[in-house]
Amino acid sequence: MTDEIFKDLPHESPIQPLQLSAEDTIQFRCHPDIACFNQCCQCSDIQLTPYDILRLKNRFGLTSNQFLSTYTVPFEMDSDGMPGVKILTKDDGACPFVEKKGCSVYEDRPSTCRYYPIGLLSMREQDSPTDEDYFFIVKEEHCLGHQEPRELTIGQYRQEQNIIDYDEINREWRQIVLKKRSAGPGIGKPSIRSYQFFFLLSYNLDGFRDFIQTTGFSEVYDVDAATLEQLKTDELALLQFSFKLLKQVLFGEMNIPVKADATEKRQQRRQS
Ligand code: SF4
Ligand code: SF4
Repeated sequence: MTDEIFKDLPHESPIQPLQLSAEDTIQFRCHPDIACFNQCCQCSDIQLTPYDILRLKNRFGLTSNQFLSTYTVPFEMDSDGMPGVKILTKDDGACPFVEKKGCSVYEDRPSTCRYYPIGLLSMREQDSPTDEDYFFIVKEEHCLGHQEPRELTIGQYRQEQNIIDYDEINREWRQIVLKKRSAGPGIGKPSIRSYQFFFLLSYNLDGFRDFIQTTGFSEVYDVDAATLEQLKTDELALLQFSFKLLKQVLFGEMNIPVKADATEKRQQRRQS
């Protein structure tokens, strides 16, 4: 692989224009006694993944809606308006979860925070059915962790930061985002309604749980009672199910069987 993807980086960007693999070695250590402790959280810009939200809302004992409206702000992930969600910072730009002693949600901190100062880059080569993970380093002036005398591979760093589970759970969702971004003419631009659906299925898990219990859902999708029952209580299964449905809605993949009389029933309901 070349470093072609970095060719448009502005000169002053903290991103190091070098594409790395999990076997590559970095020099880095972050710890509470370092002079810059907490500085990265004082000017944060943290995008949240579906699993980040699941972990954080449960940490606070909030519903998805309560968590989203209290702690996040929506943004557009691309020029087509694909919805993303970020942590809503305080007026001074600090993360609402940073305290003197460090991150107050440390065990449930988002993937971006776990990865820092590494960035994750998922790419799919032309004609390849799967995407590959690559990495890059972000070297910001205030971050002194790069000067600490510790070397480890990116793979070891990912293990240390417990990122691997996060990546596995979010993988299918990241593939959806990637596929949408690299959409060719055969896929086309999704409608506003499909983006509303994208938001619900990606970020509002409690709302999605309610949705699969509606008549509107059961009229269209042929999901057996045992699976529906499991989805009511198993949030991870619900999240994975939401990714399958998302791919069906956005890209027409037939992951969840559709009832033969779905269109007819929907029309009847609309008329009544
Ligand atoms: S979630 Fe924690 S680690 Fe991430 S920016 Fe906020 S305080 Fe820092
Ligand atoms: S070393 Fe870097 S990541 Fe760690 S606290 Fe300092 S600025 Fe943040």
